[in-house]
Amino acid sequence: MDNYIYELKGTLYLNITNKCGNRCEFCIRSNSDMLVGYDLRLSREPSFEDMKNAIDNYGKPFAEAVFCGYGEPTYNMNTLVKTGEYLKSKGIKVRLNTNGQGKLINDRDIIPELKRSVDEVSVSLNEADRGAYQNLCHPKFGMFTHDEILDFAKGCKEAGLSIRFTVVDIIPNDSIRRCRKIASGMGIPLIVRRHISDNESYK
Ligand code: SF4
Repeated sequence: MDNYIYELKGTLYLNITNKCGNRCEFCIRSNSDMLVGYDLRLSREPSFEDMKNAIDNYGKPFAEAVFCGYGEPTYNMNTLVKTGEYLKSKGIKVRLNTNGQGKLINDRDIIPELKRSVDEVSVSLNEADRGAYQNLCHPKFGMFTHDEILDFAKGCKEAGLSIRFTVVDIIPNDSIRRCRKIASGMGIPLIVRRHISDNESYK
């Protein structure tokens, strides 16, 4: 049976797609189907009804939910928006972890939909310029993907969404320094997160 939700330290994670247009060198998906004991490979993408059932049957209280997936959540935008709205209507804080390519993926500006359905957006910046991003993440949308990600983050901030950037700690220190500079120039916080290499080390 597919795992549409899983819990980590009191936060509910929402697994709504396995699709992603990147092939990041550090992606855990390339060497495992499992995360913290959950098999996150999906036989099909869940609908809103699937997510509502999973959430309603969860049986434990939680204050925060995160669209994280084992893939890029904005590939399943319909389920994301409806599920986010449902959670927010119950007073639950909702975060989207995204590679920032939602506009390219959906061929439209998704920020108005996110305004209704999430409270916070966490964008994987990953690298400091087009070329380095291309080499690390191999985006299917090509060389200008990095520019689009910055644009998306700027749009979220302007729309009043709470936003942050992340990078993983495996990139060079100089890249981290340059990412910090980009983030600070945009008035967006940046978090350096520990690289997850296997099931056991996820914190
Ligand atoms: S964007 Fe996320 S899910 Fe997609 S390949 Fe990179 S790390 Fe994996």
